[in-house]
Amino acid sequence: MKNQTFAVLSGAMIGASGLYAEGLGYQDTPIIPGTPYHVHDGERPQPRIIETAGVVVVKPPSDAKVLFDGSTLDAWTSRKGEPTWEIKGGAMVAKGTDLVTKDEFGAVQLHFEWKIPAGRKVNGQGGGNSGCFLMGKYEIQVLQSNGNKTYPDGQAASLYGQQPPIVNATSPQGEWNSYDITFEPPVYEDGKLKAPAMVTVVHNGVVVQHREAFSGPSGHKKLSEYPAEHPETGPIRLQFHGDPVEYRNFWVRPLGQRDQKN
Ligand code: MG
Repeated sequence: MKNQTFAVLSGAMIGASGLYAEGLGYQDTPIIPGTPYHVHDGERPQPRIIETAGVVVVKPPSDAKVLFDGSTLDAWTSRKGEPTWEIKGGAMVAKGTDLVTKDEFGAVQLHFEWKIPAGRKVNGQGGGNSGCFLMGKYEIQVLQSNGNKTYPDGQAASLYGQQPPIVNATSPQGEWNSYDITFEPPVYEDGKLKAPAMVTVVHNGVVVQHREAFSGPSGHKKLSEYPAEHPETGPIRLQFHGDPVEYRNFWVRPLGQRDQKN
């Protein structure tokens, strides 16, 4: 079954094991090294679903750079110039194209809250999809994954196309989620990769990625690999995937060093 190629037929994939809703998975993609699973493998085990107490709201500490406090998109830009997203009810709502920070960051602590509007039809990767790209390259998936199944390496809090979360901690649709993320960029030495990018993700107060390595910048239906050269910093980019995903209370702290003189 693992090597079966599934045909895509008008929004559904038909294989020997039955009818798959679009976005449930692929079997014609490369095998992820070190695993028996394809990229976006629909037969990879679904992360265990847990119930959380819901969103964890963390107010920005004094040394945070506040990227969105409900009032302005001044910290953001887009490839079209001005941001295309809208502010509604204290949230910024995905629209038009990706939203990109004006500032660039390396190693960071990041907090934000996100929500898929209630009543919106979601199906697999459709209807409730966005994502947070660290350094503009490494995606932590944002997806309505409560009551909506997809391939595990594409569900909420996955390292998209690489690693599913340890558990599925997603809030019911229409309710807020929180991500608390620490991220370290890859380390290059003498023009060679010395250490991969590392990330820890806490979803609604629950550790769902624990010091996980990215195998390279995120991609779709292909294996990722590190480029020959890599910048030391990059912007945070929020994906517009066609859905009005909402974000609020968005702040970042560059990770400092101890034993520094004030
Ligand atoms: Mg996405």
